[in-house]
Amino acid sequence: MTKALVLNATLEPLSVVTSRRALVLVWRNKATVVEVREEVWRSAQDSFKVPSVVRLNTYVNVPYHRTVPLTRRAVFGRDDHVCQYCGATAENLDHVVPRSRGGSHSWDNVVACCRRCNIKKGNRLPNEVGLALSRLPRSPRRFGWVYTSSGYRVDPSWQPYLLADSA
Ligand SMILES: [Zn+2]
Repeated sequence: MTKALVLNATLEPLSVVTSRRALVLVWRNKATVVEVREEVWRSAQDSFKVPSVVRLNTYVNVPYHRTVPLTRRAVFGRDDHVCQYCGATAENLDHVVPRSRGGSHSWDNVVACCRRCNIKKGNRLPNEVGLALSRLPRSPRRFGWVYTSSGYRVDPSWQPYLLADSA
């Protein structure tokens, strides 16, 4: 089933739904088609271009800030399953500043790590054991949920609406 990106009236990404659901929103005058796919759906009387991006006709207030939960799977996803110290296949999570030394369990202090580096590092700081991070850990992109809820199949037509996010 193809998916469609739903934008708020402000053009901010709001959710990912099936294209069928997006079409229902359009039929009910709740949304307007912004981008379509090549695909066309036909019924007995009509044919419809399959929506890829739709925009809500009325602004919806989203009171909470959506964040990506800090899980092993999410960290491995962000770090491409690669040890952030040596580039080997990651098997563990590592707190850059160890928890025993006040390091937090947060996106900017947790990285994917191979067993070897994890053991070598123990309860010390990377520079104390001659390790260096290949890049600084950061919280995943604000619209990370768009990638996960679409099964990492982000349509190229969605990209412009996710760009605001690259900062
Ligand atoms: Zn390593």
